[in-house]
Amino acid sequence: MKDVAILGGGVVGLFTARRLALEGWRVTLLEARRVGGGASGSAVGVLQAPRLSQSAFSRLSREGGDSYGTIAAELFEETGIDTGYQPCGCIYLRHELPSDPDRELAFWKNSGVEASWCGGDRVEELIPGYGGEQAFGLELDREAVIDPASLLAALRASCLGLGVELIEETGHLELEEESGLAKLPEPWASRLGVESLVVVAAGCWTPAVVEPLGLERVALEPVRGQAIELELAPPACVVHFSLAGSGNAYYLVPKPGGRTWVGSTVEEAGYDESTTPHGLAELLVAARTILPAATEDLVSRQWAGLRPKAMRLGGPFIGRWPGVENLWIAAGNFKTGIIQAPATARILCDAMTGGCEIDQSFSLLGG
Ligand SMILES: Cc1cc2nc3c(=O)[nH]c(=O)nc-3n(C[C@H](O)[C@H](O)[C@H](O)COP(=O)(O)OP(=O)(O)OC[C@H]3O[C@@H](n4cnc5c(N)ncnc54)[C@H](O)[C@@H]3O)c2cc1C
Repeated sequence: MKDVAILGGGVVGLFTARRLALEGWRVTLLEARRVGGGASGSAVGVLQAPRLSQSAFSRLSREGGDSYGTIAAELFEETGIDTGYQPCGCIYLRHELPSDPDRELAFWKNSGVEASWCGGDRVEELIPGYGGEQAFGLELDREAVIDPASLLAALRASCLGLGVELIEETGHLELEEESGLAKLPEPWASRLGVESLVVVAAGCWTPAVVEPLGLERVALEPVRGQAIELELAPPACVVHFSLAGSGNAYYLVPKPGGRTWVGSTVEEAGYDESTTPHGLAELLVAARTILPAATEDLVSRQWAGLRPKAMRLGGPFIGRWPGVENLWIAAGNFKTGIIQAPATARILCDAMTGGCEIDQSFSLLGG
């Protein structure tokens, strides 16, 4: 039986742990805080409609989006936890129709998505309390939502059920070097087999985990995202909109129990995970352009997380560290880590177990 230690209990680490355990590996998952303590626990849970593109990055999203229905059913079967997976579709609000509306429809059709333009009446029907100025909408059928907290709870329970040894609250572990191999610090090292592989799936903290090995820096940066929950009747689907002037993009997400989530800010704030009054104000201003009733007293929650951004084109870093036989990395899914995690884990595991090649776009040393 092969041994692996995975550092990081976000969606990427959990999907990887689950997959390797299903393939018969002995898996130890070490999480600095609690499972979901990083970006994954702060995500909003939109699984965006797939776009036709040949890029490896888009294929990650497409594969993830296509697999979530099955994953949600499997996790429910295994753990009894409902992940809140709901294929609800979405609408992109627009002030005017594009010069060639059919071209956009054709693009989505080629992507395998049913798309249609609609007018103000339909917009009002889909968004209770709508008071925006956009008179048109592009409706797409293939978008879904999932509840990140429930997904994490289900993945955690599934991993435990499959025999993964889960160790939480380890504090921020750093790897050590021994005879050219990556090694965990004690007491964890002696609990693993001598030939154990190490997977670092520590999101934006990944560079700090591997830095003590003296390797080239993994080019990953944290990008803070804040979101809020409003006690306002939810829209019937995900609503995408942008603000005239700033061009910043936002979305409203339907939640059970008469709640609507509004996301999200995109901020360079280093490793600061706090929420801010400025973040709250930005999201309320955005929400009010669609829902005039969105006032601060209806905000029941505000939260923040650090998205792991790979600082090069092509997507996340996935693969074996060149020259360090036992060290693998999967991190950097930025704004789309929830939808991409199943495919990210699949690609990593196929390479670890079957020697499958990984697309060059995910190369570890692209900086
Ligand atoms: C506000 C917001 C909204 C978002 N909405 C969406 C969305 O709608 N759809 C979507 O697809 N994506 C969304 N994302 C992006 C998504 O959340 C991330 O891409 C994804 O969660 C990254 O997962 P991860 O497992 O790589 O990293 P993380 O979830 O950050 O997990 C890394 C884990 O490693 C642990 N760790 C760190 N250092 C160490 C160490 N030294 N030793 C051991 N453990 C360590 C951390 O505590 C953390 O739990 C959103 C993100 C934010 C912030």
